[in-house]
Amino acid sequence: MSTSLIAMGVAIFMVINLVVGLAVLSLLFGTFETFFGKPKLSILRSTKSGNYFAFGFKWNSAKEPVSIDTIRIRLFNPFGSPTQAEVINKFEAKKNSFAVEVDMGPGLIDLLGAKNFEFANIQVEVASSKDGLSWQFDMKGPKFKKLVSEAHLTVDQFIGDHKLDTVKKSKPPIDIPIRSFIADTVPGKGPQLAIATNPAFASLFAGSAAPTTTGGAGGATAAAAENFAVSKVWIEPGCIVCNACEDIYKDVFEVLADTCIIRPNAPLDDGLRIQEAAEACPVEVIKFTKAS
Ligand code: SF4
Repeated sequence: MSTSLIAMGVAIFMVINLVVGLAVLSLLFGTFETFFGKPKLSILRSTKSGNYFAFGFKWNSAKEPVSIDTIRIRLFNPFGSPTQAEVINKFEAKKNSFAVEVDMGPGLIDLLGAKNFEFANIQVEVASSKDGLSWQFDMKGPKFKKLVSEAHLTVDQFIGDHKLDTVKKSKPPIDIPIRSFIADTVPGKGPQLAIATNPAFASLFAGSAAPTTTGGAGGATAAAAENFAVSKVWIEPGCIVCNACEDIYKDVFEVLADTCIIRPNAPLDDGLRIQEAAEACPVEVIKFTKAS
């Protein structure tokens, strides 16, 4: 065999090795990216009413540093009714992989109950409204329903299992003053505490002697005010999960990962304490109406 034939054979062998090597590397990295680099949506078990949707979302936040704050569920139902529907929730922005349970409103129940749902398609979209980026996850209607009904991990379990950096119960970036009663501005004196010992507000407390069980720093002064019952207490959108309300009255307020809720069967007879929590709320989203 001539030397040139041997050299050609070696060259061909090396070229084949190089091509195969590159293909294997590309396959390995592609597979790695496909399975571990892609954003992943996990449907979780909701612990609340049917309006709620619990999910986890993992993505490479170093590669894509966005703030995710929106979830949409879209129905495409050409053979049923309605033919299209969408529910949406905007939650506190997340900068790293997270799990939340959010209120999608009664539209979610309507969407899942659509006629001919078995032929429908569902798209779950996770988005960043600030950064204009979104990810869509498409699936058949029955598969979506199955994932929702058979989900076994709750948000807390998912966070624990995946060691996510949760902001649950995080402290607010500002100091919340411990206060019991917030006064209106007194002309010429600025804001003052509306407490019984403040002469500017003494008339407010005149004649009231009913003691209360109000806790916290304002307990002593609150005892001078007449307690009342409330007929309704609720949280408006905008809670920053600072935990102040739950610290004041945990029988009534429960702070979750992304909002605060009123506990079922919460006692409504200690209006002063509910008012105290409402006034301590730094974003003023606690509302209540007095019982007549
Ligand atoms: S409702 Fe207000 S006080 Fe309660 S956790 Fe939310 S922001 Fe804080």
